[in-house]
Amino acid sequence: MSGKIPLSRVHHSEVIDRRILEVVKGGNYILGPECKAFEQELAAWFGVPHCVLSSSWTAAVHLLHLAQIQFGQLKAGDEILVPSLTAFPSIEPMIHCGIRPVFCDIDDTYTIDPEDARRRITPRTKGVLPVHLYGRPANIDAVQKLADEHELFVIEDCAQSHGARWRGKRVGSYARHAALSFYPSKNLTVYGDGGAILTHDADIAKRVSMLRNHGRKDKYLHEKVGFNLRFNEINAAVGREQLKVLDQLNGGRRRAAEWYRRELADVAGVTLPPADQVGVTETVYHMFVIRLDDHDKRESLARHLKEQGIETGVHYPVPNHRQPAIEEVFGKQPALPRTEDYVKRILSLPMFPAITEEEVTTVANAIRQWAKV
Ligand SMILES: *Cc1c(COP(=O)(O)O)cnc(C)c1O
Repeated sequence: MSGKIPLSRVHHSEVIDRRILEVVKGGNYILGPECKAFEQELAAWFGVPHCVLSSSWTAAVHLLHLAQIQFGQLKAGDEILVPSLTAFPSIEPMIHCGIRPVFCDIDDTYTIDPEDARRRITPRTKGVLPVHLYGRPANIDAVQKLADEHELFVIEDCAQSHGARWRGKRVGSYARHAALSFYPSKNLTVYGDGGAILTHDADIAKRVSMLRNHGRKDKYLHEKVGFNLRFNEINAAVGREQLKVLDQLNGGRRRAAEWYRRELADVAGVTLPPADQVGVTETVYHMFVIRLDDHDKRESLARHLKEQGIETGVHYPVPNHRQPAIEEVFGKQPALPRTEDYVKRILSLPMFPAITEEEVTTVANAIRQWAKV
């Protein structure tokens, strides 16, 4: 359909096309100079001392947990606090390492509710993994306070929040560790899978970088048993170019969010995502998520928009504490009332840097039309 408005669309440019060809002809394909430069540029951009690329967020965090285990900072049977409302991969690495995810409820910003998290602390709790969901910073001050009081490490899940700020500083720079994803729909992408950890810990950075490449110290000397979870030069070159324009791309998302707010402000039965807390949060709108009054209304609006050629999504329809894979491993999990309520009613609208005012208006008009009937 010609008038179709997608949920997300990747940024392209001629510079990127040229850089891809350059790398192809250059003859370096894996963990070469482009990867090295991308790591340095990411670390500088986020304002952290170390960045290590890996083949995805999931891979990078798996290696991070293994490094934490090897350094005695974490062991099988330990627990990490994590919001249930996040992409399933947020919790996969810990489970592969024998760590138990302790699912927490969210507050009305869709990010971890620090008070709910506090109630779930046990003697086995070692860490907390806040997720800056939909590009909105989690309450970093409250999470850090909780972590300090209980001697927990913090890993920021920045898969959806590259460039978001908390009190003027980019998220990903606050905690000891953070992780990025470059999956195609994310704010920063590399035209394929990819991820990285950001860390203030030099030893962790060195160990993760060794583990991602077969535990190699040099070409034929393996100090540890590792993995092949490396990063590619073409993707790094793409990422470097995307990073140069990332603030601009995020600006496009923020502008679109303002258009949505203007157009949808007075539509009955539509709850907009919480506005930024002035002087505290700067959201980068990985998603623009509205909430309807109930599940049937959500389904009915999604259907109506689809008929108009407008793509929507639900992030996420099944919260992680209710996933069959989790119940299989850990049994039935305690209820999380707000999470369970929100997942029935949320709907993600088209959101990407180049979305036009006209496209946003088209989406908004379709929603108004639906709201009237
Ligand atoms: C996409 C995503 C991940 C996983 O990233 P991959 O690079 O696909 O492994 C983890 N957490 C969140 C919040 C995500 O959105």
